[in-house]
Amino acid sequence: MTKYHTESQKLKDLPKLIRRDNGFVCLYCKEPLTGEYIFEHLNGNRHDNRIENKALAHQSCNIKKISSLEFQLIADEKLQQNEEMGLHYLEDSTAHEENSSEIEINVSLFNFHKKYITEQIVIEGRYAFNDAIAELPFLCQQRFSHGSEMTTRRYLKQLTSKVTDLQIIKDDKNKKWICKREVLN
Ligand SMILES: [Zn+2]
Repeated sequence: MTKYHTESQKLKDLPKLIRRDNGFVCLYCKEPLTGEYIFEHLNGNRHDNRIENKALAHQSCNIKKISSLEFQLIADEKLQQNEEMGLHYLEDSTAHEENSSEIEINVSLFNFHKKYITEQIVIEGRYAFNDAIAELPFLCQQRFSHGSEMTTRRYLKQLTSKVTDLQIIKDDKNKKWICKREVLN
């Protein structure tokens, strides 16, 4: 058991946690970790730095856990699941390990998509899905030297999932548009 949770240990654990937990997402709300995130100690013991006891979460969700029985249960179940699973997800970690700069690029690309799409919707009211697929990979390549249609499709899926305020609709000509989610009263 490592007593201190050092920055270098966090950096080493980050790609492992991302791979184990299927993405750079929050343990509690399952949304992408685009802003501030923390290494959550599932059993609440900050000195228990076994990787099984760690998961990534939003700072805000970590605070919410204090008063949320639901979140506390998620943490308990996750710890149990991690302990049962063992450490086999760490094998061949060098082959697939994403380094921290790749993660930073992912965060930048995701934030750029979010900002650009939001701006288009503010200006035009809606943004054609096919234009997004064509324009965003190009703009990302120009800006970050990274990005592809596949990446853009993945981000669009996340950004228009039912927990977000964006959605994809079809008009009467079957053309797909990204627009603000209508709030039902
Ligand atoms: Zn969260």
